[in-house]
Amino acid sequence: MKIAILPGDGIGPEITAQAVKVLDALGEKFETETADVGGAGYAAHGHPLPAHTLALAKEADAVLFGAVGDFKYDNLERALRPEQAILGLRKELGLFANLRPAILYPELAGASTLKPEVVSGLDILIVRELTGDIYFGKPRGVRECPDGPFKGQREGFDTMRYAEGEIRRIAHVAFQAARKRGKRVTSVDKANVLETFQFWRDVMIDVHKEYPDIELDHMYVDNAAMQLVRAPKKFDVVVTGNMFGDILSDAAAMLTGSIGMLPSASLDANNKGLYEPSHGSAPDIAGQGVANPLATILSAAMMLRFSLDRAEQADRIENAVKSVLAQGLRTPDIYEQGTTRVGTSQMGDAVVRALA
Ligand code: NAD
Repeated sequence: MKIAILPGDGIGPEITAQAVKVLDALGEKFETETADVGGAGYAAHGHPLPAHTLALAKEADAVLFGAVGDFKYDNLERALRPEQAILGLRKELGLFANLRPAILYPELAGASTLKPEVVSGLDILIVRELTGDIYFGKPRGVRECPDGPFKGQREGFDTMRYAEGEIRRIAHVAFQAARKRGKRVTSVDKANVLETFQFWRDVMIDVHKEYPDIELDHMYVDNAAMQLVRAPKKFDVVVTGNMFGDILSDAAAMLTGSIGMLPSASLDANNKGLYEPSHGSAPDIAGQGVANPLATILSAAMMLRFSLDRAEQADRIENAVKSVLAQGLRTPDIYEQGTTRVGTSQMGDAVVRALA
C-alpha cells in the first residue's frame, strides 16, 4: 500500500505530520512518499502541481493532503495559484465525489455556536459533486455584454451544466452511502429557478428507483441552508452539486464547533481517493504549533476505510480521537474552560497513546 503525502502550505505540514505519526503507530506496513504541492510546489518547482507530484498521486493507492494557499500568492496568475493544485488533482485523478461527514462529538457540544440540544449527536454526511457545475462549465470569462440594459459594458459570465452521467454517478454514491447509515437521502437543488437543477432532480428520481430501501426527498438550496442551522439532525445524507455543496458543507462544518475537526474524502469511480481536512492552510496560525490536527487524523481514518480496505484500523483511529476528547485534551480552536489546552504535536502524541 503506497500513500502519497502532500503536506502543502501553512499549517499543512504540521497537521499531516501528526496523521503520519498516527498511521505509523498502527503497526501496518504502509509505504509513504512526500511531495510538494500548492505554494510549496510553486516555490520549489515553479508550479502548484509539479509533474512529479501528480505522477506520485496517480501511482499511489491513496493521497493524504494537508492544505494549500497563502495570501502571498494572491497576485500570481490564476493558473499558478496554490489552490489550482486541488482542482488539478481532482481532474487528473477523476475525483468526482466529495464526502464530508459532520459529526458532533458529545464532548464538543458546547463548542458549537448553536444550542447543544440542536446539534448534540449530530451525524450527517454531505456528498458533493466535484467535477461539474458552474465551477468547470464553459464558456466562461469576461466579455462585452451582448444585450440588456448594460449592453456594451464588460460582464463576467460562467456556465452551469450537468451531464446525466455525472448526476447518475454521484446519485449512486449518495444512495450507497445512505445504505450504510440512516437510509435517507436529501437531494439539494434549485429546481424552481435553474434548468440544470430541474434536470438534476429528474435524474435523482430516476436513479432512486434502483434503491427502494432508501428514502429520497428534495429540498431547495435556500431552504436547506436554513434547515441546516434550524434542525440539522433531520438530515442523514445530503447530496448536491459542486457549488451548493461547497457552501453547505462549510456551514455544516461550523455546526460541529470547529472546522479543525472535519475530515473529507474525494473519491474516484474505484474508491481511490484523496483525503484532506475540510479547512484551508490557516496562514494566520501557521508555524505556531496550535493547529488542530484531528481533521487530518480523521481524514487518514477515512482513507483506511474507503481506499485501503482497513475498516478496523479506521475504527481504532476514530476511537482514539474520541478517547483524547474524553480525556479533556483540546487545541485552542475547541478549548473550553475546564479542559486541557494542548498544541498540535501534543494532540498527535495523545492520539498515538490512545491507540494502544
Ligand atoms: P482556513 O480554513 O484556512 O481558515 C479559516 C479559519 O479557521 C482561520 O481562522 C484558521 O486559523 C482556522 N482554522 C482552519 N483550520 C484550522 C485548524 N486545523 N485548527 C485550528 N484553526 C483552524 O480558510 P481561509 O483563511 O479562508 O483560507 C486560508 C488559505 O487556505 C487561503 O489561501 C485559501 O485559498 C486556502 N484554502 C485551501 C483549502 C484547501 O487546501 N483544501 C481549502 C480552503 C481554503
